[in-house]
Amino acid sequence: MFQSAYLRLTTWYVLIIMTISFLFSVWVYTEATRELRIGYNRQQAVLQEPLFIEVPTVRTVVGGRLEDQLRESIRRIQMNLLYFNVLVLGAGAVASYLLAKRTMRPIQEAMDAQNRFTADASHELRTPLAAMKTEIEVALRDKDLPRKEVEELLTSNLEEIDRLTRLSEGLLALTREDVGALSPVQLDVVVGEVVARLRPLAEAKHIAISSDVPQITVQASPAAVDKIIGILLDNAIKYSPEKSAIKLHATQRDGNARLHVTDQGYGIKSTDLRHIFERFYRADTARSKQQIEGHGLGLSIAQQLAAAMDGTISVKSTPGKGSTFILRLPKA
Ligand code: ADP
Repeated sequence: MFQSAYLRLTTWYVLIIMTISFLFSVWVYTEATRELRIGYNRQQAVLQEPLFIEVPTVRTVVGGRLEDQLRESIRRIQMNLLYFNVLVLGAGAVASYLLAKRTMRPIQEAMDAQNRFTADASHELRTPLAAMKTEIEVALRDKDLPRKEVEELLTSNLEEIDRLTRLSEGLLALTREDVGALSPVQLDVVVGEVVARLRPLAEAKHIAISSDVPQITVQASPAAVDKIIGILLDNAIKYSPEKSAIKLHATQRDGNARLHVTDQGYGIKSTDLRHIFERFYRADTARSKQQIEGHGLGLSIAQQLAAAMDGTISVKSTPGKGSTFILRLPKA
């Protein structure tokens, strides 16, 4: 598809270049032949002077030569313009093809990313659907399935439906690039709300959450800040062992507020660090892939939301020791 687009674009570029080259050649040809004819007419006028009229043979010979010279010069101009146009066509075609490729590159990259995204999303959708289908098929084959097993099957199916719901919510969140109007938001208040909401999750793993956030007002969308902190804190809980600790603290510098979320979790290898903000990327550890629930969308959503508010998310991590995610937002 892109090959034919390159060719079409190249053809248009070449057509434009050749039109300019042709018009330029016509102008050069008209001007040059006009000058030659003026010179020729001037020399013919000299031949009409009395000296030449008295020697008609000389006049005829010189006159003939002048005419030959004029014809030869015009022919040389025509040939040079032809060579020039052939050269412009060759060089123009090569340059146009390279330019067409360059013009199309961002579009091709966007298409490739879109295709990768669709493939990843359908893969993520297919896995829980296939699991549910198999379970239901096996259950249907067994006519005397005990009630307890039916309940287990339905519970397992419900879990898969929850996974699918979370996935579709994540996909939907990624399509919303706008966070709406920004307004002053009390960072400490939002942190307090998110911590209160996720504390039961941490307590289930005996993880202690401490928060030391002074009164800071950032220019942001309250819902987006809530979502980002929720993602960072949820990850800190998910990727930490039992009985560890998570700390949230904030600093202010250069017109920005920085919220640090530090855990004592499994940490992230340096080879994974540069990818964790990519959609569907999950660090390749058995822990994160098999035991810990997730689709690899949280950090991409968080980063997209932060960017929409002129903010950033950065990370420092030591495998085996823990990670610190830093959310930077402009102060109000
Ligand atoms: P998910 O948690 O659903 O896998 P995310 O986009 O939130 O997706 O995170 C991407 C990956 O980054 C995770 O799979 C995990 O490997 C890694 N990660 C994120 N947060 C942490 C953390 N606090 N500690 C260790 N690894 C983390």
